[in-house]
Amino acid sequence: MTYNFDTIIIGSGLAGLRAAIEASKQGSVAVLTKLYPTRSHSTAAQGGISGALGNEEPDSPMWHFYDTVKGSDFLGDQDAIEVMCNDAIRTIIELEHLGVPFSRTTEGKIAQRRFGGHTRDFGAAPVQRACFCADRTGHVILFALFEQSQTQGVKFFPEFHVLDIPIIDGKCMGVIAMEIQTGDIHVFNAKTTLVASGGYGRVFKTTSNAIASTGDCLSILFNAGVPLEDMEFFQFHPTGLYGLGILVTEGARGEGGVLINGKGERFMEKYAPTIKDLAPRDMVSRSIMTEIKEGRGVDGKDYVHLDLRGIGRKTIEERLPEIASFCRIYIGIDPVEAPIPVLPTAHYAMGGIPTDVNGRVLHNEKGTAVEGLFAAGECACVSVHGANRLGCNSLLDTVVFGRRAGMEINLANKNIKTGRIHSEVVEKVLKKLKQLLEKTEGTQRAGELRDKLQTLMMNHCSVFRNKDDLNRIPNQLDKIKEQLKDVNIKDKGKKFNTELLEVIELRHLVNLAEAISSSALNRTESRGAHSREDFPGRNDTEWMKHTFALKKDSNIEFRYKPVTVTKFQPEDRKY
Ligand SMILES: Cc1cc2nc3c(=O)[nH]c(=O)nc-3n(C[C@H](O)[C@H](O)[C@H](O)COP(=O)(O)OP(=O)(O)OC[C@H]3O[C@@H](n4cnc5c(N)ncnc54)[C@H](O)[C@@H]3O)c2cc1C
Repeated sequence: MTYNFDTIIIGSGLAGLRAAIEASKQGSVAVLTKLYPTRSHSTAAQGGISGALGNEEPDSPMWHFYDTVKGSDFLGDQDAIEVMCNDAIRTIIELEHLGVPFSRTTEGKIAQRRFGGHTRDFGAAPVQRACFCADRTGHVILFALFEQSQTQGVKFFPEFHVLDIPIIDGKCMGVIAMEIQTGDIHVFNAKTTLVASGGYGRVFKTTSNAIASTGDCLSILFNAGVPLEDMEFFQFHPTGLYGLGILVTEGARGEGGVLINGKGERFMEKYAPTIKDLAPRDMVSRSIMTEIKEGRGVDGKDYVHLDLRGIGRKTIEERLPEIASFCRIYIGIDPVEAPIPVLPTAHYAMGGIPTDVNGRVLHNEKGTAVEGLFAAGECACVSVHGANRLGCNSLLDTVVFGRRAGMEINLANKNIKTGRIHSEVVEKVLKKLKQLLEKTEGTQRAGELRDKLQTLMMNHCSVFRNKDDLNRIPNQLDKIKEQLKDVNIKDKGKKFNTELLEVIELRHLVNLAEAISSSALNRTESRGAHSREDFPGRNDTEWMKHTFALKKDSNIEFRYKPVTVTKFQPEDRKY
């Protein structure tokens, strides 16, 4: 079928839904998602959303601004960060009015708790800035936004997998998608298209990310000549459940949990004397890995303990119920009584599709926009998180920039014609699918190749990196690419052909792994989540700039965009 809408939104996470609410005030909006809308990864967000409400103690947007800049290791664009932090209070009140049931203080105000890198007085001491609903914050916001967008007549296409986002002569025409239930291909012509397709943590073996976080749309745009910004910066969250990668929110440390090594020491006191366990994630992850490397893991193994016993049963049951239940179900430990074994887990992509503060996708480092194309949420790089995101700033980013993209889309729709995806473009997509399905020979299995890819990235491109490790990646990726050609998809049917879709997702993951690892090799300094053992220091003289990776035939070319510094000059990052 062919559909015509003013705006197509890919993704029904918080970014997509917030944009849909805004854009549907003025135009017709369709939201496509490869999942059921409320299964988007946003629903897994636990700990909170940041905003300097000052409900528990004095706080200010300026301190939030400073913390975010410092957290980003001075790579975040300060104009964008200021926009986000200044809009945070309004955003949270708006969410409350849209129906989000935030946890409350005894006087009935929105409760707030501590989180990593959130401080008062420019780093003097931790501050309570995270608004939350127990440890299901993403879930409650997602449901509130889903309900609101339905009341506004947004048309949902659940379980529609986007296969292509055609850009012709610099204009995005819309989207080509497969209806998973039938296998039918549908064409969506639009004036404007917003990509809000979330993260790509599935590039790594151990991750907190949902199975669907495969970065399809980033990869599609990368192949279409759109650059990807700052792909070398991938955040490892310090506390994944050992052996599983399932997240234990930083809110657990915000509530008073502490990290302990094999000698029973609170080792974060050594690495971040002022804010200790509430240091930013890049620092805490490196500290854990260092403790383990130097032989201070628990029982000589490769994990440390997160100890919540000091918090007490009441707070754990009231404010961290999901975490407690994960521990009991998945590892058979009751956190009220025993410490939790944890290890860093791949968590959040700071890099992504370059945009301006209004969600317009940039075609190059000079700031030229692609007509009709927008991006918001984790897939986008505004860049408010720079080299390292602070906890609770992603949910804030999705709703602040989702709304702004929606407003910009309303303006753009007045001047843009509806795109038309021609039949030749659709034919190309169909031909590729046919080739994949018609193949009857081949010995490789997609699952095994995915495992190889994820292990490769985990071993050579995770918390610590170096030239030798990174140099091992391209050959291995080439091998995986070759082997991918030899995968024989057993399911030849049309309906619910998840085997076919998994192969397509794996191709995207390989494509992104190339962008991540080559950008990591290219950046010869350590900054935020990108820690090079062979280049241990931050190098502001040469590297106060964003990487723009561009796909040129089989190579990746690098261009650079300077960091926007408005208020805070780079300084030593001590906590
Ligand atoms: C376990 C966990 C806990 C977290 N906790 C917090 C927290 O407490 N605070 C915080 O600030 N951040 C947190 N984060 C980060 C934050 O939740 C995410 O960055 C954010 O929710 C991403 O939202 P999004 O709207 O960009 O995308 P998502 O919510 O990931 O949604 C992506 C959407 O895109 C769709 N999609 C993708 N590809 C396709 C395709 N090919 N075709 C069609 N549809 C497609 C998906 O179906 C989905 O609807 C957490 C993340 C995780 C993984």
